[in-house]
Amino acid sequence: SLPIALTGCASGIGAATAALLASRGYTVIGIDRTATTGFAGDFIQADLSTPAGISAVIEKLTTLAPQGLAGLANIAGVPGTAPLRTVLSVNVFAVRELTRGLAPLLGERASVVNLASSVAFGWRSVAEACRDFALAEDQDQALEQAAADTAIAENSYLFSKQCVRLLTEQLAAEFVGARVRVNSVSPGPVQTPILDDFKKDHGQDKVNSAAELLGRFAAPEDIAEVIAYLLSSQPIWVNGTDVRVDGGLVAYRSSSVP
Ligand code: NAD
Repeated sequence: SLPIALTGCASGIGAATAALLASRGYTVIGIDRTATTGFAGDFIQADLSTPAGISAVIEKLTTLAPQGLAGLANIAGVPGTAPLRTVLSVNVFAVRELTRGLAPLLGERASVVNLASSVAFGWRSVAEACRDFALAEDQDQALEQAAADTAIAENSYLFSKQCVRLLTEQLAAEFVGARVRVNSVSPGPVQTPILDDFKKDHGQDKVNSAAELLGRFAAPEDIAEVIAYLLSSQPIWVNGTDVRVDGGLVAYRSSSVP
């Protein structure tokens, strides 16, 4: 069967998803800026924060998967402690440009899965700003405007992940005629290397209280299971939507359950 391209394969959720897919017999082509040992499939080392890095990935995938791809998992992401331009370029523009750029390789029944976050659910007031940013044709101008907007600059990660959810709907609409599904997954806190950065960005107590409520943080495998399901051809009618995988955190926090 055709391979699945997966960004962020060197660590955390991406590594867990690549391992799960391989164990189920899929061929995975991994993409990451960090070299990784022990990766079973083909590996492309690239920096997704720049248009040049993204073009290089598209070119290499065209060579490695001449028959096309069964799916694309946009898992690479950076926390809000990284510079604003990096957060927005990797978390938003790389998802958009890689998905659109791989359109010729994504045949009928292919599935795209993007990583959003449950934190984005707490921040609904910026839908219009997200639309303008996520769909902006001039990336440099959009990044400059975002940097000048303190609400965005101080909440770059939340903003980027809200953009991912919006972008997921937009890309699903763009690909509907090609019969390619595009969905996003929104995890709550997951025990991976970037959890410490989230604690710095969102507050240690807030992040830790999630694990107190749920008994633990999510394991990368908890999220990988859902990503792998969406990438498979099973959920053929699930398209243009977000699947929250947070153990019930958002439901609990927005409820009146004491
Ligand atoms: P991680 O840090 O373990 O893995 C992220 C991977 O992305 C790393 O291998 C890193 O090298 C790669 N990456 C980062 N910038 C890159 C770039 N410019 N070019 C290429 N690769 C790059 O983090 P994770 O927890 O596995 O996160 C995976 C995704 O899940 C991210 O999009 C993250 O925002 C999202 N997410 C994570 C959590 C959590 O609590 N861990 C919660 C919600 C959403």
